[in-house]
Amino acid sequence: MWDFSTDADFQEKLDWMATFVREECEPLDLLFGHAGDPYDVDNQAARKILKPLQERVQEEGLWACHLGPELGGQGYGQVKLGLMNEILGRSYWAPTVFGTAAPDTGNAEILAMFGTQEQKDRYLQPLLDGDIVSCFSMTEPQAGSDPKEFTCRATKDGDSWVIEGEKWFSSNARYAEFLIVMAVTDPTARAHQRLSMFIVPKETPGLKIVRNVATMLERPELDEGTHAYIHYDQVRVPADHMLGGVGEGFTVAQARLGGGRVHHAMRTVGKCQRALDMMCERALSRRTQGELLADKQAVLHYIADSRIELEQFRLLVLKTAWVIDNQPHGTAREYIAMCKVQMAKIYHDIIQRAIQVHGSLGTTTELPLYDWWAGGLSLALADGPTEVHKNGVGKQTLKGYTAAPGLFPTEHIPPRLEAVRAKYADVVEEFAL
Ligand SMILES: Cc1cc2nc3c(=O)[nH]c(=O)nc-3n(C[C@H](O)[C@H](O)[C@H](O)COP(=O)(O)OP(=O)(O)OC[C@H]3O[C@@H](n4cnc5c(N)ncnc54)[C@H](O)[C@@H]3O)c2cc1C
Repeated sequence: MWDFSTDADFQEKLDWMATFVREECEPLDLLFGHAGDPYDVDNQAARKILKPLQERVQEEGLWACHLGPELGGQGYGQVKLGLMNEILGRSYWAPTVFGTAAPDTGNAEILAMFGTQEQKDRYLQPLLDGDIVSCFSMTEPQAGSDPKEFTCRATKDGDSWVIEGEKWFSSNARYAEFLIVMAVTDPTARAHQRLSMFIVPKETPGLKIVRNVATMLERPELDEGTHAYIHYDQVRVPADHMLGGVGEGFTVAQARLGGGRVHHAMRTVGKCQRALDMMCERALSRRTQGELLADKQAVLHYIADSRIELEQFRLLVLKTAWVIDNQPHGTAREYIAMCKVQMAKIYHDIIQRAIQVHGSLGTTTELPLYDWWAGGLSLALADGPTEVHKNGVGKQTLKGYTAAPGLFPTEHIPPRLEAVRAKYADVVEEFAL
């Protein structure tokens, strides 16, 4: 059965969320607009407003809905989560207000999946309660997205591991209570067994932030950078700070990245819808050369293209969510990769059109579009570049095919025509076909 309807009970929750996000979360984006603000637990002004909002979300039973019931979530599954994340995607602050902000969601998931009871008590619970934030420290300056090139090394020394090396773009390290660090434990092992994962508390000696790198929306002169370039300078952690087993780093990382990517895609639907809403309002409001922008064919095409592409993307994201919920583990991987590729493209294209329809106003800091547009560039890079995911989708697709048995493709018409003529030889002869 194919069914695109939403349960009436659940729709009520979505309606409550939509109003709450519009009235309570979107204004926070204006008051605390810096990328690091939702993660800065020392920002007393933001926390004063945030805490009561988080409590209201908890009272509604909508806190941390990506989690199963055993961890205090609702266990809604990915399809319902997809519908919820579309609403949260409208606002930068909303995921923090609802306890579903990355990278803490992914870090909580791997702590829940691979952590010991002691690790869960010390790190997972305060993370789930929204009292602390965390960092995922994987990418290296010389290696980018390829773990096979990682050199940051962890060496066993008695009851400890000593980490030496550099990491790049470790988002929110400056606010994090702990960092989850991927390091090489056996350089001679097979590619996917060279690495292990470690929990490094922020106060550990040797953990040196070289600088907090600023993206194009952050001002380095005001020290607004949120992506840390880190030197792990002989950082020593007890052996029980390994997350998962020796050589399981790649497996642990994969467990968190899939969910993270599809949640970004779900939120992208919401942000694109908001940009489309803005485009439509402007088209109906602005007059030039004696008519509304809405009367211009080019503007109608911008709106139509955006609506059609968004509808297609939304169906892909919700189908991916359905595959995660209903198909064997791993089946969703290629669907998640398709979402990852497409979200960067659709986000770029729709926001670009929204800026174009707003004219000069669209390029200014008086509308949110410039901020969204610049932030969108990272969608094609964070969690792996578009090209890498396209390679994966292409290879996975080819697995369902084999080479043609002969010189010509199996769709080659002459032999197929000959075969069908032979099959119906009597009809061919009777009617002189
Ligand atoms: C906003 C943001 C937040 C991030 N947060 C984190 C974080 O918290 N923790 C963390 O560890 N990392 C984080 N990253 C880093 C992210 O994982 C990397 O940017 C990503 O893996 C790509 O690495 P790179 O930027 O070094 O690009 P490179 O690996 O150098 O790739 C550069 C370009 O080369 C091309 N390319 C690369 N590989 C291939 C290939 N196989 N086939 C074809 N072309 C290819 C692509 O055009 C690609 O864009 C973040 C990145 C961004 C932008």
